[in-house]
Amino acid sequence: MTQEAHVTQGPLTTEAGAPVADNQNSETAGIGGPVLVQDQALLEKLAHFNRERIPERVVHARGAGAYGTFTLTRDVSQWTRAAFLSEVGKETETFLRFSTVAGNLGSADAVRDPRGFALKFYTEEGNYDLVGNNTPVFFIKDAIKFPDFIHTQKRDPYTGSQEADNVWDFWGLSPESTHQVTWLFGDRGIPATLRHMNGYGSHTYQWNNEAGEVFWVKYHFKTDQGIKNLTTEEANRLSGVDPDSHQRDLREAIERGDFPSWTVQVQIMPAADAATYRFNPFDLTKVWPHGDYPPVEIGKLELNRNPENIFAEVEQSIFSPAHFVPGIGPSPDKMLQGRLFAYGDAHRYRVGINADHLPVNRPHATEARTNSRDGYLYDGRHAGSKNYEPNSFGGPAQTGRPLWQPVPVDGTTGNHEAPSHAEDDDFVQAGNLYRLLSEDEKARLIDNLAQFIAKVSRDGIAERAVNNFRRADGDFGERLEDAVQALRA
Ligand code: NDP
Repeated sequence: MTQEAHVTQGPLTTEAGAPVADNQNSETAGIGGPVLVQDQALLEKLAHFNRERIPERVVHARGAGAYGTFTLTRDVSQWTRAAFLSEVGKETETFLRFSTVAGNLGSADAVRDPRGFALKFYTEEGNYDLVGNNTPVFFIKDAIKFPDFIHTQKRDPYTGSQEADNVWDFWGLSPESTHQVTWLFGDRGIPATLRHMNGYGSHTYQWNNEAGEVFWVKYHFKTDQGIKNLTTEEANRLSGVDPDSHQRDLREAIERGDFPSWTVQVQIMPAADAATYRFNPFDLTKVWPHGDYPPVEIGKLELNRNPENIFAEVEQSIFSPAHFVPGIGPSPDKMLQGRLFAYGDAHRYRVGINADHLPVNRPHATEARTNSRDGYLYDGRHAGSKNYEPNSFGGPAQTGRPLWQPVPVDGTTGNHEAPSHAEDDDFVQAGNLYRLLSEDEKARLIDNLAQFIAKVSRDGIAERAVNNFRRADGDFGERLEDAVQALRA
């Protein structure tokens, strides 16, 4: 639907539906006199305007979204009993919200930042949210570090600007970030459009089948449009002349019927492999090399319908990694475990306790049957039905079957570091990424990093940061050090 199709019939009214006589002149006491408090159309209009904003997301504030269809192309029932993944050819309605991470709601699209890739599947067993990014890894591996990390990306409390000192201080002192930082400052750090980038579930998740067998999985969404990126110079220019470039590109592509699509793949690890795999398979700073667990193609995601109201459907859309369906569940990934709490908490604060029941958020292929009631903006959807369980009035009952399978645990409680696996370290995969780049890509990566590191003012911070890249790859470190020194000379 295009915007021209939205035509409203009848006169302008107040919020209560009464006709408005004059929307140009306030009611005054005499010609040129003061405005009267009885002009409720005026007062209501001003009061509503003051309340048009809700708290913006602390991260992923700037977003664009579209509805689409996920089609299963391969039988995966040997690995999961999820109903929407049960039959080849089955289609499931989806909503995908793209975002940048650090910028505010009004910031430019064409910036160097990871992109959120938050996907809601409206399945017949409830909504399944896969809240991913356009990168397969992340800067940190434990959610307890997330607020500190984001504070370094956002504006400094004293200067009011993002500070290179803060960014590189944190990254240098958090060597597990080396892999993601290498990825971010490479060509893929600024996608040309939202259509020309991959999406990744990033975390490891559990799939379980009818027999109760457990598999660990990672999701990949490979763009069918091909990967296209912007150089730093192109992005800087575009951010100035067209801050909404990515949002507009997505909407216009869908309006002209040029529906973007992604081929969906999963890497699948039998549960028994996890303990002895060469990397900790639940470490969000690491990928599973394709040679170890080859991606299996399972479906196609197509975006084919624009939202009709950005605020209602994009700003008020909520996603939570805790929204699982039968056959899919969490892994012990410590970042994921933190996100299972943080997303729902953010939405309850930002949109309210009834956010799940807004049209974009509520299940489309089934209905929510809870005994939760009331709260701000409750719509009375339960009418007079009983609000407790168990009850003798035919109310909904528990199934007795968990969505996911239990996993064994051992040891003692404590603030443990993740278990170490043979090849766990913070640098090996960053080095692998560097070594797969072409010479041109390496040169741009080094220049992008050096331009930013050269802005650091505090002694020791730049050196520590460069040293992390040296530990990933000697050539990487040497060239970066030279580039930083040349810029500072
Ligand atoms: P793999 O064969 O497992 O992975 C190679 C993958 O690297 C490609 O499939 C592609 O991912 C990705 N890639 C290619 N060029 C770039 C680039 N310029 N920037 C970012 N990613 C790129 O080899 P390795 O196990 O040796 O992995 C090497 C590195 O590849 C990893 O350390 C990781 O940084 C990166 N990578 C790995 C992925 C994985 O799941 N194993 C996924 C994405 C990146 P894609 O096919 O998704 O486009």
